[in-house]
Amino acid sequence: MFEIKSFFLFLLVLNFEINPLMEKVVLLIGGNLGDRQALLKEAVLELGKQFEILKLSGIYETAAWGGKSSGNYLNMAVLLSTDKSPMEVLNIGLEIENALGRKREVKWGDRTMDIDIIYFGEQVMQTERLKVPHPMMSNRRFVLVPLSEILPHFIHPQLKMSSQDLLEKCSDKSEVKRFASSLF
Ligand code: ADP
Ligand code: MG
Repeated sequence: MFEIKSFFLFLLVLNFEINPLMEKVVLLIGGNLGDRQALLKEAVLELGKQFEILKLSGIYETAAWGGKSSGNYLNMAVLLSTDKSPMEVLNIGLEIENALGRKREVKWGDRTMDIDIIYFGEQVMQTERLKVPHPMMSNRRFVLVPLSEILPHFIHPQLKMSSQDLLEKCSDKSEVKRFASSLF
């Protein structure tokens, strides 16, 4: 009896491990308006309702990027597991941005919450609405620092470099300061 039970348990675990529909996805989330840390918490709680969250990086502070924003950003990386499609994940991210008060006025302008898909497993996509891996990630220290914390050895499917190597080679030298080790 015990053997049969363990066998089914084994099959269940195996199925989970090899389920080709489950992808590991990395998001970079953050903003520079309002109570930035509280907004990060809310975003993670909302993401937790839709996805299995596997890992959270610490929180990092960076000066505004792109020249059109004012206050510093808080950002963090989130590793999650999902059987949803890349477009579904993008849409959920946009819904959470809107729910948290995101207004789209100026490109790269101030925002309460930005949710970008950095990696979608090893998939490469170049559509009008969605590009993964995120095309700017390798030029942005504020992405590579939290990414290296949670997935240092993951290989970028196009550049064939690990997160750590991308960070070492990155030409962006802006300061990415550790703001807090955990969200909760
Ligand atoms: P940005 O993140 O570049 O500051 P926005 O958050 O306003 O700009 O996003 C603009 C659009 O970028 C989104 O509506 C989405 O369709 C598109 N987009 C393309 N690739 C991605 C990606 N990997 N992650 C998130 N959005 C993306
Ligand atoms: Mg965005």
